Amino acid sequence: MYKLIDGKEVSAFIKNQVKDEVEVLKEKGESVSLAVIIVGDNPASRVYVNNKKKACEATGIISYEYALPEETKEEELLALIKELNENSEINGILCQLPLPKHIDEKKVIDAIASEKDVDCFRAENVGKMWLGEYDFAACTPKGVMLLLEYYGIDVCGKNCVIIGRSNIVGKPMASLLLEKSATVTICHSKTKDLASFTRNADVIVAAVGRPKFVTADMVGDGAVVVDVGINRDENGKLCGDVDFENVKEKTSYITPVPGGCGPMTIAVLMRNTLVAYRIQKNG
Ligand code: NAD
Repeated sequence: MYKLIDGKEVSAFIKNQVKDEVEVLKEKGESVSLAVIIVGDNPASRVYVNNKKKACEATGIISYEYALPEETKEEELLALIKELNENSEINGILCQLPLPKHIDEKKVIDAIASEKDVDCFRAENVGKMWLGEYDFAACTPKGVMLLLEYYGIDVCGKNCVIIGRSNIVGKPMASLLLEKSATVTICHSKTKDLASFTRNADVIVAAVGRPKFVTADMVGDGAVVVDVGINRDENGKLCGDVDFENVKEKTSYITPVPGGCGPMTIAVLMRNTLVAYRIQKNG
């Protein structure tokens, strides 16, 4: 019998911790704030940004939204980021990706001050993660680690297979699992015989972006399956990268989509913003 990993419950727990700390700061006349930049009118980005704003409201973090038109020039966006970097009232800066094609995402990410880079996308912050010297980690992979921790799933010495090697999920996921002494394999689009890796995994983290990609024959008995994917199935219904209905009975623990990793990403973002505040205050 499998156990469902409830991302809503764990994210509520994390957000409550943040809220309590923010309240204590408020009593001292302090405030924690996050600037969220969105360029253009990508509907998915709008949903993500709205969810982040809601989480800010729930935790008492002040959110400032900068909604810029699609035709915004790269230098205008960079100028806004510079202004936010210099504004001591702003603790975290997040620029919702993807950006319109005429804007260089890397330049934008690199423009955010590292101590305000709450997404942990800057090369410097990514490097700190790999060295284990970080204050805050990439939101989605950190969310996965907190889910595992909450359910008492110890990855030390376990065979953990990540499917996907993106900079925002797959690679930082590997660094955090390795930090906890897991044996980590990253599989990707060029991996030959993917199932031979996943079948032997104690923990599978799927971050592919393909609906129901991980099928029951790819999963060994009793595996822990974490589904990071957010996709639409043939009926337009939200689904993950894992064929949940057919895979679940083979697992010991599994995350649903929705209600698994998604809410955790935002909860970690709130936590990272609070950590950023502390770094800035303590110099
Ligand atoms: P991406 O497109 O950047 O990366 C996908 C990865 O999948 C690539 O590294 C690629 O090599 C690998 N891949 C593609 N086809 C494959 C195949 N046939 N076999 C093995 N590997 C294959 O995507 P991403 O940004 O890492 O996101 C992955 C998924 O996670 C998406 O569905 C995205 O929406 C979702 N996501 C969710 C959250 C969250 O908060 N839950 C956050 C970020 C991303």
